[in-house]
Amino acid sequence: MKVETLIIGAGAAGMMCAAHAGPGALVVDHARAPGEKIRISGGGRCNFTNLHTSADNFISQNRHFAKSALGRYTQWDFIALVDAHRIPWHEKTLGQLFCDTSAKDIVALLRAEMARAGADLWLDTHVGEISHAGTEFTARLTRDGREITVAARNLVLASGGKSIPKMGATGFAYQVAAGFGLPVVTPRPGLVPLTFSDDRFRPLAGVATPARVTAHGTGFDEALLFTHRGLSGPAVLQASSYWCEGDPISINLTPGTDLLAALQQHRHSDGRKALTTILSQYLPARLVDYLKDGFNLLGTMADQGDARLAALCDALRDWQVTPSGSEGYRTAEVTLGGVDTSALSSQTLAAKTVPGLYCIGECVDVTGWLGGYNFQWAWSSGSAAGQAIRQG
Ligand SMILES: Cc1cc2nc3c(=O)[nH]c(=O)nc-3n(C[C@H](O)[C@H](O)[C@H](O)COP(=O)(O)OP(=O)(O)OC[C@H]3O[C@@H](n4cnc5c(N)ncnc54)[C@H](O)[C@@H]3O)c2cc1C
Repeated sequence: MKVETLIIGAGAAGMMCAAHAGPGALVVDHARAPGEKIRISGGGRCNFTNLHTSADNFISQNRHFAKSALGRYTQWDFIALVDAHRIPWHEKTLGQLFCDTSAKDIVALLRAEMARAGADLWLDTHVGEISHAGTEFTARLTRDGREITVAARNLVLASGGKSIPKMGATGFAYQVAAGFGLPVVTPRPGLVPLTFSDDRFRPLAGVATPARVTAHGTGFDEALLFTHRGLSGPAVLQASSYWCEGDPISINLTPGTDLLAALQQHRHSDGRKALTTILSQYLPARLVDYLKDGFNLLGTMADQGDARLAALCDALRDWQVTPSGSEGYRTAEVTLGGVDTSALSSQTLAAKTVPGLYCIGECVDVTGWLGGYNFQWAWSSGSAAGQAIRQG
């Protein structure tokens, strides 16, 4: 059987690509349903883009690479598409846009756009050996127990990263890309909770507090959540994408507060009160109790000299802890690394050395922050490749 374009992966990027590629596209996926990650994303409401999307919100060995695709198909383009499908949405926080009703609305949108473009979708399809000769790719597929060989002029790798293997995530795109000689930046889990082998935060499990969490010089002001195994919450997930094993992270527990001035004021007005009592006005009481020994939070407010208060505030602004690891691909929202952008055109996502081969979405070494950026990359890269294929 012959098709114009074979797209491997019916996720966000693959479906978007099919919607733009025009007739003759076949999308195959080993899952039983398309867009499963879309369905579960954003707590079932899909954080489908971010109003503030720019290339600065992405991690890649080439931080300029994403600019072209993001500029060709912007967050405004996707919002217009969502509006055209009459899907109600709202901004939650920090420019993050969510469906009012259900993430399934986005999956339905993509299926409708694919059907409109004349693309076919084969689910429950196993992809075996892939080869390339002349101007044609050949893929051995297994569907309904039957082996089918599909020949295609274009091959699009849209099978995502390794995150959440339980949902069918595989390193397939990396293997195929490497097989075609494309370099691959070593994949690793991103947007993932950090763990501590000594379970030191177990007594704090469930405590949340606003914080600025910094890894490798990049910091995020969002919520920090203590868990049985370590640290989570948006601030930690964001920082985890910048964290390297063995390095400490810095936690500012009092972002945006002039704690020193406040404590000096309390020393005048609440001199007899315990330091821990006053600190509990600024931090969760369980956290203050936990920090009591390590931070030497003894005595009353009147006992605290200026130097002591300044040292305490410094320590609370730069609490250094060294995670022993992360929860890994089991819970990571994304996979960092992937097909090296140096091997791809930033305008079309086509491989420079293999005509007709495209890599899009999460399998590329472009990883967004938490907040709708990863889907926007899927829409932008999928549309860039799809349009290039259509213009052929
Ligand atoms: C729990 C969770 C919540 C998330 N929430 C958000 C959010 O709210 N906003 C946001 O921007 N991002 C979110 N993300 C990230 C986002 O889901 C991904 O970045 C995005 O789905 C990547 O799109 P993709 O099309 O490249 O890959 P995917 O969506 O992962 O699609 C890849 C497809 O390829 C298929 N596939 C894989 N291997 C094979 C194979 N060997 N053969 C055939 N098919 C294969 C898979 O079944 C899948 O359908 C979330 C991720 C997770 C895990």
